[in-house]
Amino acid sequence: MSNFLQCPYEKSHQILEARMQFHLIRCRRNHPNAPKGVCPFNVTHIFNDAELEFHLKVCPDRVKYDNYCNVDEAPTKPTTPPPKPIYESTENWDDEPPVPSYNPTEYARNAPVLRSVSGAKPSERRRFRQEEHVRLRNRLD
Ligand SMILES: [Zn+2]
Ligand SMILES: [Zn+2]
Repeated sequence: MSNFLQCPYEKSHQILEARMQFHLIRCRRNHPNAPKGVCPFNVTHIFNDAELEFHLKVCPDRVKYDNYCNVDEAPTKPTTPPPKPIYESTENWDDEPPVPSYNPTEYARNAPVLRSVSGAKPSERRRFRQEEHVRLRNRLD
């Protein structure tokens, strides 16, 4: 399916999304005095203000930015909690040993899932992730 976008310079230009970047190169020549704007993801991306909205969709630094944010926002969910022990006993429950409570952190430490840390500095997070990959590789080998 083709996705047409409206040219930011001329409302009458309906341009295929895939062709928009090429079209803008030609069309912006007709608007040499358009106000300039800077990409919020990379200050070296300077565009005519009108093009900025389109650029934000395709900016390669935005992709990096999104991925970076997702790493920290992804919930660390252990896959499934360990099965709870089932007591089929008529004994007084007060006499039972305490049921080990489910500890997500402890479980994640032993489970083959990626953990992440929150609140750490980027460099610490990066090191943590590397250690996690090593840990998982050792575990899965
Ligand atoms: Zn145009
Ligand atoms: Zn950009």
